Amino acid sequence: MNNINELLRKLPSIDKLLKHPEAISLTQKFPREIVVSSLREVIENKRNIIRQMGHINTQELREDLLIQKAEEIANAKTAWTLRRVVNATGVIVHTNLGRSLLPDEAIRRIASISSGYNNLEYDLEKGCRGSRYVHAEKLLRELTGAEAALVVNNNAAAVFLVLNTIAKGREVIVSRGELVEIGGSFRIPDVMASSGAILKEVGCTNKTHLSDYELAINENTIAILKVHKSNYKIVGFTDEVSLSELVETARKHNLYCLEDMGSGCFVDLTPYGIKDEPTVRWELQTGVHVITFSGDKLLGGPQAGIILGKKEIIEKCKKNPMTRAFRVDKLTLSALEATLKLYLDEEKAKQQIPTLQMISASIGELEKRAGNLAEQLKKHGDSDKVEIKVEKVISRVGGGAAPTAELPSRAVTISSHIFSPQTLEHYFRTYDPPIIIRIENNKIYMDVRTLLKDDDDHIVSAFQEFMRNLSSRL
Ligand SMILES: *Cc1c(COP(=O)(O)O)cnc(C)c1O
Repeated sequence: MNNINELLRKLPSIDKLLKHPEAISLTQKFPREIVVSSLREVIENKRNIIRQMGHINTQELREDLLIQKAEEIANAKTAWTLRRVVNATGVIVHTNLGRSLLPDEAIRRIASISSGYNNLEYDLEKGCRGSRYVHAEKLLRELTGAEAALVVNNNAAAVFLVLNTIAKGREVIVSRGELVEIGGSFRIPDVMASSGAILKEVGCTNKTHLSDYELAINENTIAILKVHKSNYKIVGFTDEVSLSELVETARKHNLYCLEDMGSGCFVDLTPYGIKDEPTVRWELQTGVHVITFSGDKLLGGPQAGIILGKKEIIEKCKKNPMTRAFRVDKLTLSALEATLKLYLDEEKAKQQIPTLQMISASIGELEKRAGNLAEQLKKHGDSDKVEIKVEKVISRVGGGAAPTAELPSRAVTISSHIFSPQTLEHYFRTYDPPIIIRIENNKIYMDVRTLLKDDDDHIVSAFQEFMRNLSSRL
């Protein structure tokens, strides 16, 4: 016990540590409060070791080492948690990696609108309070032919809001083949239940007929909902009812027909091999009452939920008190308006919206990029140690869009008999900025489709350092 007390007394006080030259230079790098709390953590930790173990290596009580530990803690305390990463997965709309990249126009617009005051809720013509919901509405109507539009926080909120507004306590018919879960947190049945709508499932997983919908209609039915099968496809012996037929049936029975499109696409993507993704305009032409979709999937804009359709329903949604809880801010609206504006000229949209650029990248372009990257990497890896190749791969649109669309692409692969792909993957993932890759067939795959201009240089530097460290370890 005496020994323990003696050791505890040897721990320097925080005040004493703060006078150490190294601690003084730490207070120039970090706010003083952070330095103090970090030093406290270090001392507390040592105190616990002494109490539990009854002894401590006196080396561990050296002031410079204690301060060094505190610096690590201070670094961890103040490190960014949201960071830029390099996406070498080839998944374009990668929900875990932030979905769509914003076009430059949108970034400039966010900066200019948010660095000053703006008319977010001010009517400049009348000189009085206005509505934030007018901002993207005109463009959305122009681009899609919709009667009315409302932008909320995300598509989950959009679906919830529409159902809560028109279907609370009423039955909404959905095919069993469309009861999807997206990314673990969005399940159509759960969203419907929390909105107060009553889910009426019809048909089977693989087949739903028009008669299934018709038989389910009763006096408490209010709507038919079609849901985009975002992240899966049912193949084989299948049947589903088209949106036009559902619209027709809904009209006959005086019901609403709604569609959750998931990914709202504004341009025809069939030339790029994406065949199962209808455009928003086509869907609206069926006469569907309301469609909802995300702003940051195929549209290539900021996170948002877009509701388009009949004025009567959109107006009711605007009056729902829940709208306030889902409202978008000036950053979203400025980015969305800028993105939408690009769509006024479809060619401009394809050239300037990163998501569309990546989808439409030609195989020749990808081949060339992969070849260049492979050449750069080969300079840092001896061919007797590592094998670096360009291989054919398939990129995915991701984000619950066009689940089966395959975009032929090129990847640079790295394999070696002296290190495992997991070792390199971990090195890349913990690099700054982190590089996210795929492991398959015991190799690293880096699909060049989702790489940005400067990413190649980052990858080359990371690999160079990895190989240098490796040879010093061997
Ligand atoms: C992605 C998706 C959603 C969720 O959209 P968020 O914008 O992520 O809220 C809902 N429904 C479908 C069909 C989707 O694909």
